[in-house]
Amino acid sequence: MGTIKCIGILTSGGDAPGMNAAVRAVTRSAIYNGLEVKAIYRGYKGLITGEIETFRTQNVSNIIQQGGTILKTARCKEFMTPEGRQEAYETLQREGIDALVCIGGDGTLTGARIFATEHNYPIVGLPGTIDNDLFGTDSTIGYDTALNTIMDAVDKIRDTATSHERLFFIEVMGRDAGFLALNGAIATGSEAAIIPEIATEYDQLGELIKNGFRKSKNSSIVLVAESPLTGGAMAMAERVKNEYPQYDVRVTILGHIQRGGSPTAFDRILASRMGAAAIDALLEDQRNVMIGIQNDEIVYVPFNKAIKNDKPINRDLLNTLRILSI
Ligand code: ATP
Repeated sequence: MGTIKCIGILTSGGDAPGMNAAVRAVTRSAIYNGLEVKAIYRGYKGLITGEIETFRTQNVSNIIQQGGTILKTARCKEFMTPEGRQEAYETLQREGIDALVCIGGDGTLTGARIFATEHNYPIVGLPGTIDNDLFGTDSTIGYDTALNTIMDAVDKIRDTATSHERLFFIEVMGRDAGFLALNGAIATGSEAAIIPEIATEYDQLGELIKNGFRKSKNSSIVLVAESPLTGGAMAMAERVKNEYPQYDVRVTILGHIQRGGSPTAFDRILASRMGAAAIDALLEDQRNVMIGIQNDEIVYVPFNKAIKNDKPINRDLLNTLRILSI
C-alpha cells in the first residue's frame, strides 16, 4: 500500500492464552517490514484514553510462553457509541497510527468492523478467544490451550469421581458455543456433553446415566457448556438429583482457570502464523478482514462473515461421543 508506516496493536475482550505470542508476531513482523509499532493498552479503552507506547523488538522478548496479555485487556462501553469511536479516531490521528491490528473475540471484531467502516480506516483482526466461535477459521487463538486445561482438570476429577462412584456435572466456558464442551468430552472420555447448539433431551441423558451405572461404570462425567440455553451445570445437576436420588451427584464449575496458563505449542504456532499474516494482509492492502486458518492454510475472512455467521458444530463429533460412551 505504501501509505502505512505505523501500525497500532491491541488486545480486547476476554483474554486468551496465545495473545502474547500474537502480539510478539505482529510486532516483530511489522518491524521486519520497516513499520513502526505502537502498542495500545487495555483494548479500545486505551485507544480512547491514549494509553500508547512505541514497541521495539525487545518489548516482546520472552512473552511467547506467557498466558494472558501484556497489553492488558478491557471491555469498553464508550467504544460502542459514535462519540467514543470519534475520540478513538482522534487518538489514532494524533499518534500517527495508519492501521490497526485488533486481537479478540466476536465483540472485538464487531467493534473493529463498525469503526473501520465509520472512519474508512484499515483494520485487520486476529481471532483471540478460547470459545472458538468465530466463523471462517478452524481454530481461534487460545482454544487449544483451554481445551487442554479442561482435559487436565477433568482427568483429575475423574479420579475422585471413580473412587466415590459419583456423577459429576462439570461446567466449561464457551459463551453460547459448545466446542469446548463437546471436544472436551471426547478428549476425557466423558459420558455426555450438553451444548447450546443442540437442544438437550433430558430423558436421553437420564437413560444414558442409568445405563452407564447399570453396566457397572464407576463414575459418570457430563460436560455442560455455560449458556442460558443449557441452563448450566448447577441447574442440570438439580434436575438429575431430584429425579434420581440414588446417585451421588456433584458439580464443578471450572471457571477462569480455563483462560489462564502457558499456551500450547499449537496455539503459539497458530498465533505466530496469524500475527505475521496480519502484517502481510495490511501490506497487501487488505482491510476489514480477520485472519483465519482453514486446512492449515492462512485465509482472509471478511469481518461480516466471521462475525455474523454461526460457526456450525460438527455433528459427527456428537455421534462419536455417543458411540464411545456406551
Ligand atoms: P470474548 O469472546 O473472549 O468474550 P470479545 O471480543 O467477544 O471476547 P466483548 O466484551 O464482547 O469481548 O467485546 C470487546 C469489546 O469490543 C467491547 O468491550 C467493546 O468495546 C467492543 N465492542 C463489542 N461490540 C461492539 C459493538 N457492537 N460496537 C462497538 N464496539 C463493540
